[in-house]
Amino acid sequence: MTLPRQFLLKGKKWRVSLRKVVDRDDDACNGLCAYDERKILIRKGMSEAETLSTFLHELVHATLHEAHLAPNSGVSVETEEIICDAVADMMTNCFHMKWRRRRG
Ligand SMILES: [Zn+2]
Repeated sequence: MTLPRQFLLKGKKWRVSLRKVVDRDDDACNGLCAYDERKILIRKGMSEAETLSTFLHELVHATLHEAHLAPNSGVSVETEEIICDAVADMMTNCFHMKWRRRRG
């Protein structure tokens, strides 16, 4: 799978980087949305399914950020994570269905 290296979101350029990813506590994680730098970081070496799911999850974070809905807008971190997981799962399933249809 090839992720886009960059994309536009509401006219703003975001970059995507595959690498080792750590959170604020320096713990390894699968993905991170660096709002200030407009960067999505994805852990290198995951399966295609994990990479896609993580990228879509972080893409929802970026979308919420550009819509001024997160972070720090009254939506709790827990709610934001639920939204990101739900949309990423839905989109992942759509991509998988399309992939299966092409092969079947
Ligand atoms: Zn998240």
